[in-house]
Amino acid sequence: MAGKYGFTMTNDTKPANKVLVAEDDAVSRRMLEAFLTKWGYQVVTAANGSDALRILEAEDAPSLALLDWMMPGLEGPQVCQRVRQHLDRPYVYILLLTARSQKDDLLRGLESGADDYLTKPFDLQELRARLQVGQRILDLQKGLIAARDELRFRATHDALTGIANRSFVLDAINREHSRQLREGGTLGLIMVDLDHFKRVNDTHGHLAGDAVLKEVARRMASCARPYDTVGRYGGEEFLVVVASSDGVGAMALAERIRREIAFVPVTTDAGPVSVTASCGVVVSEAGKPLGFQQLLHAADEALYAAKQQGRDRVVLAAPAVPVQSESSPAEPAPVKSGSR
Ligand SMILES: [Mg+2]
Repeated sequence: MAGKYGFTMTNDTKPANKVLVAEDDAVSRRMLEAFLTKWGYQVVTAANGSDALRILEAEDAPSLALLDWMMPGLEGPQVCQRVRQHLDRPYVYILLLTARSQKDDLLRGLESGADDYLTKPFDLQELRARLQVGQRILDLQKGLIAARDELRFRATHDALTGIANRSFVLDAINREHSRQLREGGTLGLIMVDLDHFKRVNDTHGHLAGDAVLKEVARRMASCARPYDTVGRYGGEEFLVVVASSDGVGAMALAERIRREIAFVPVTTDAGPVSVTASCGVVVSEAGKPLGFQQLLHAADEALYAAKQQGRDRVVLAAPAVPVQSESSPAEPAPVKSGSR
């Protein structure tokens, strides 16, 4: 297994790669199993094509497979074809084993989706080398997938706080808005702004300011439900998209966030920093949905009212008149909540 330090691992000490050996001939199967085990693979065996397919379609399927061509149930190429139909599954590198050696057979095997082909009787060292080729391709693919996921994460998340970034949270509002128009239900939006944040930066420095933003984002995310989206709108301003929630639910969440932010000072290298936040809440009711711009505008107006009323509070936007046109926003008539 792994050495004391992760980076000392070599090919021989890596966690065993799982490989499927599907072969109906019991003697060949046991021989292959013995050699592959000796070479460090974790071997799973199948004696027919149907079992092979079942194993390759399972949740923790091996990513390497040695398939005999001639097997009862499904033949090797048929198993290949079925496995290749699952485009959404992790890739399985498939090596076909067969006594057939005609060029037509080879082509048929590769056309069925096999990656490589070995003719029986085969040389064991050649099999070993070809399995290593397969493993190398799987490793490359794993690296590419990890890089893609990393890029996808960076494109949708705020680099400092790790929560959704501006474009992702605006997309979330759009998605929930479309869902509401399609399926009905309510949609809540909370706009959160840290109070006098400039003073934090001016008094404690920008590093302390960054630490505050990170911690506030963490506290906000810990208050939200898994299906809400918490994102950084810009600077010290955040948005929470509250899916399927009535006014009471959205207000309760905003109040929880406000309390959580103000509850204990944030620990920074410059010492503890106390912060408070003002929240503007808007709820788009079922049957009279607000437009996308209207939602943002109403949340912004409610936030402004919260600031005007003394900060560290939650204000709910007055029920807006739903309009079809985005050009006539809701009247800013927020009401003070029972915060503080
Ligand atoms: Mg056979």
